Amino acid sequence: QTSNNTTPRFSSSDVTVVFVLGGPGSGKGTQSAHLVKDYGFTHLSAGDLLRAEQNRPGSQYGDLIRSYIRDGKIVPMEITVALLSNAMADALAHRSSQPSGASKPRFLIDGFPRKLDQAVFFEDTVCKSEFTLFLNCPEDVMEKRLLKRGETSGRDDDNAESIRKRFRVFVETSMPVVDAFRKQGKVVSVEATGEVDEVYAHIKEAIAVKD
Ligand code: AMP
Repeated sequence: QTSNNTTPRFSSSDVTVVFVLGGPGSGKGTQSAHLVKDYGFTHLSAGDLLRAEQNRPGSQYGDLIRSYIRDGKIVPMEITVALLSNAMADALAHRSSQPSGASKPRFLIDGFPRKLDQAVFFEDTVCKSEFTLFLNCPEDVMEKRLLKRGETSGRDDDNAESIRKRFRVFVETSMPVVDAFRKQGKVVSVEATGEVDEVYAHIKEAIAVKD
């Protein structure tokens, strides 16, 4: 079922793609914001793109996305991959009209790929990834962070029941993606238990080694 004869929409020699994976509450969004500031990445969050599509008036997928997110389930990859691919194209189109478009554009894609089929489909049809940053964090720490965020986030999935479902999906469905990339030698793993700045310092060290 893997379509190996297709040419990806973007060549990895023109565009750098880095994935950020980790359990819910591991700090993907927070740490991505730091990386964007210091390394000039364009940040794309699969969850943010899905929430925006869910709320877009006239979207034919709004109700479907809403119910998947509430149950912590993996939204069908055709939707998620199309949103990411179009967001990359938009960012590149925007960029080429800027005078300082000299260096290779870099995308940091957070919360993706959460399932093996998405990983294969994205790398075959959109772009091969450079590496995956994996934020390693125990569930008790993530649960505390998510419940705290739930007090103000307004997200329907930051409640105890959705959190439990999201943890299970992460272990059963998303960890196999990390393991597959690890076998290819393409994972940078960072301990994500401490304070935000402490974790970010680990990340900077780990990716400096990678360069
Ligand atoms: P996040 O904002 O990363 O915590 O994601 C919130 C929810 O959006 C997840 O629990 C899924 O229901 C959905 N979602 C996020 N990323 C993906 C993805 N790569 N593929 C499918 N569904 C996703």
